[in-house]
Amino acid sequence: MSRRLIYLDNNATTAVLPEVVREMVPFFSVYYGNASSAYSLGQESREAVQSARRRVARLLGASEEEIVFTSGGTESDNTALWSALWTSGKRELVTTAVEHPAVHRFCQELERDGYRVRRLPVGSDGRLDPADVARAIHPETAAVSVMWANNETGVLFPIREIGEICRARGVLFHTDAVQATAKLPIALAEMSVDFLSVSSHKFGGPKGVGVLYVRQGVPFRPYLWGGSQERGRRAGTENVAAIVGMGRAAELASERQSEYADRVGKLRDKFERTILAGLTEVRINGHPTERVPNTSNLCFQNVESEALLLELDRQGIQASGGSACSTGSAKPSRVLVEMGLSVREAFASVRFSLGWNNTEDEIDHATAAVVAAVRRIREKLPVALVTE
Ligand code: PLP
Repeated sequence: MSRRLIYLDNNATTAVLPEVVREMVPFFSVYYGNASSAYSLGQESREAVQSARRRVARLLGASEEEIVFTSGGTESDNTALWSALWTSGKRELVTTAVEHPAVHRFCQELERDGYRVRRLPVGSDGRLDPADVARAIHPETAAVSVMWANNETGVLFPIREIGEICRARGVLFHTDAVQATAKLPIALAEMSVDFLSVSSHKFGGPKGVGVLYVRQGVPFRPYLWGGSQERGRRAGTENVAAIVGMGRAAELASERQSEYADRVGKLRDKFERTILAGLTEVRINGHPTERVPNTSNLCFQNVESEALLLELDRQGIQASGGSACSTGSAKPSRVLVEMGLSVREAFASVRFSLGWNNTEDEIDHATAAVVAAVRRIREKLPVALVTE
């Protein structure tokens, strides 16, 4: 039996686009200069970094000076929160209960050091009420941090409204846009966002590189200290090849974003429609429409996601239970439990996240495989469990 790979875990990471690889390659061995060196080889690297900065700024609707290259989404998240606490001298953060570990775990560490963190709940559809943010802000609040799109469910948060609330209350606002970038239009010049985190490997760029957007005029203190790279905002020799790759991926995303949303959204909707029609006791985790277009988190009652994922993997279909970062842990998804799912329902849930490269044929094939696998797993269950 021929076995083809159908990759449906694009929220974990994406394949590096061929155009991106092509543009990166010369920066490993031809233009290998240090971007801080004064001679021409260094200048080539410096100019390449600047060009990437322009491309990322365009994708985000920001200006070049506001773009700081980092090692990825995690560093950008940690840096933004730390900077807000450091520059404000305040000791409290407001965030949500469903943030990625890059914010959630960092906040837990802050709490161990005596900082206070208010975590706002989400509804059963995974959404946040902006009025809760307004109520949670106190005079001691240094910053609000709310993700733009959830990595497990794809549910969108009201970033524009929250930004306006924070601006009116004089509180810094950070958003983790790792799962939103390139999936929806972002126009930072028109929004009240002070910090925004981006990761290159979620939209066809290489891993280990990202961006922290820092709004012009916002007080900032670096997280990493050393050389004066990134205008003193992030020390360390630039990873030029990776930055070039991220720049090219950002440029392609700027050109293709609306086409992506349309094409991938239609495939995702067809995938869900077919599965919901083909099986009983399946439901979508998260708001049906207020989601990024590529993500489908489904709860299959009376099915253990581990068994389903194993069965799908055997057929070359790659998806995940919860986020990649929590795979391997025996805990249910914190995000789904916060949305009110029982532990059992959380363990019965699978995230499928589509990408630019998925074809309709792949999605049809995956849909049929999911329906058949769920039926098979349910048939093997004792009757008492099925009717529970
Ligand atoms: N934030 C969100 C919402 C994510 O989905 C991820 C990655 O899964 C990160 C942050 C971390 O990004 P990186 O892998 O670039 O450190």
